[in-house]
Amino acid sequence: MSASDAVAPPSEATIPLVRPWLSGRENEYVAAVLASGRLSGDGPFGARCAALLTALTGSPCALLTGSGTDALEMAFLVLDLQPGDEVIMPSFTFASTANAVALRGAVPVFVDIREDTLNLDETLVEAALTPRTRALLPVHYAGVACDMDGLAAIASKHNLAIVEDAAHAIGATWRGRALGGIGRIGAFSFHQTKNVAAGEAGAILINDPALVASAEEVWEKGTNRRRFHRGETDHYDWMRLGSSYLVSEVVAAILLAQIEMLDQINALRLRLWQRYHRKFEALESGGRIRRPIVPPPCGHNAHIYYLLAEDRSERDRIIAALGRRGITAAFHYMPLHSSPAGQRYCRAPFPLDVTDRQSARLLRLPIFAGMSESQCDRVIEAVTAALR
Ligand SMILES: *Cc1c(COP(=O)(O)O)cnc(C)c1O
Repeated sequence: MSASDAVAPPSEATIPLVRPWLSGRENEYVAAVLASGRLSGDGPFGARCAALLTALTGSPCALLTGSGTDALEMAFLVLDLQPGDEVIMPSFTFASTANAVALRGAVPVFVDIREDTLNLDETLVEAALTPRTRALLPVHYAGVACDMDGLAAIASKHNLAIVEDAAHAIGATWRGRALGGIGRIGAFSFHQTKNVAAGEAGAILINDPALVASAEEVWEKGTNRRRFHRGETDHYDWMRLGSSYLVSEVVAAILLAQIEMLDQINALRLRLWQRYHRKFEALESGGRIRRPIVPPPCGHNAHIYYLLAEDRSERDRIIAALGRRGITAAFHYMPLHSSPAGQRYCRAPFPLDVTDRQSARLLRLPIFAGMSESQCDRVIEAVTAALR
C-alpha cells in the first residue's frame, strides 16, 4: 500500500481550509524506522532531513525540533535572552512568536505592519528601539518575505540579532536567498497546516557558525551529548540551560518524505494561488476586495491565499456564505496586542492601526497541494456570488 492509498481522497462536497498531502514515501520511511528499532532523535532520518534543509537554505546547521514553537523558544535560549530584554516583532502573528520571548522574561515589543505585505514595517522599527532591544523577530507572512535589506541594515547598525519566524516560508526567497537562512537564526514549522507537514514538527536554522555549538547543547537538554556521540569528548556534561527539542525518528521519517516533495508541493500550491489571483483581478478592480501584494524581491511559496474585504462585517459575511456552500474559509490573526496575554506580557510603543484594520478585513481561502482546480473554481464562484 502506498502512502497515497492510505489517505482518503478529499471529498468534492466540502473543501477544507488546508489538508496535508501525504503522497510520497511516508509509509515506507516510517516502516523502515520501526523495523530498525532506532526511534529516538538525532538518528539517520533526522540527519537526512537536516541535510536537505541546510542545502535548501545554505545554513551551516539545521536541527529538527518538536514544533515551530520549539524552534522559536530554542532561538532565545541560544541567544541567551535575559529578563527585561526587548525583541521587536509584529502583533499580527501567532502566539508562539511572542511566547518565545516572554518565556525568557523578556518583552515582546510590537511594531505595526505594512499595508501591502502585512509584514513588519521596517520603516517603523528604529523608533521602537531602546537600550534593552536585543533582537528583531520578523514573520514572513504567507511566505512573502519581509524587507530583509531594511531589517539587516537596522540590525547591523544597532548590533541586534535577527531571528526569522519562517514558519510559513519554507522554499520562499528574498532576492533569491532562502528565507530562514538569512537572519542569525531561522525557524520553520512543519505543523500539519503548513506546506511541509509532519503533524507536529519544526526546525531551527543556526545561520551564525559561532552559535552552532551552543545550539546543539540547548537542543540536547543543555548537554554536550552530541559532541560525545561524535567522539569529540569521552563523556558528556550539563553545560547550559536547555531542554529536549529533538524529534523522534518516526516523525523525522514522515518529514523526510515531505521535504523530498517540497518543490512539487510548492509548485502545486502556486498554480492554485495564481488561479485565484487571476480570477479575482476583476473583483479587485471593481473595488470590492484587495488581493495579496508580492513585492518584486520576494519569491513566495503560496502558503496562504487571502483576500482583504471592505471591513469586518463584509469579511464575516463572506466567510459565512462560503460556509453554507461547504467551503471552509477563516480569519486570523487576532492581533496579539489586544489579547489577554499580549496586554500582560508585551508592549506597543505606538498605535498599531494597520494591524487592527487589516486583521479585521482578512479572510483566508482554502489552499493545499491536493486541491483540484474544480475545487478552486468552486471557491472563486462562491466568493464572487457572495460579493454580488
Ligand atoms: C505555525 C506558526 C508557528 C508555530 O509553529 P508550530 O509548528 O505550530 O509550533 C509560529 N509562528 C507562525 C507565524 C506560525 O504560523
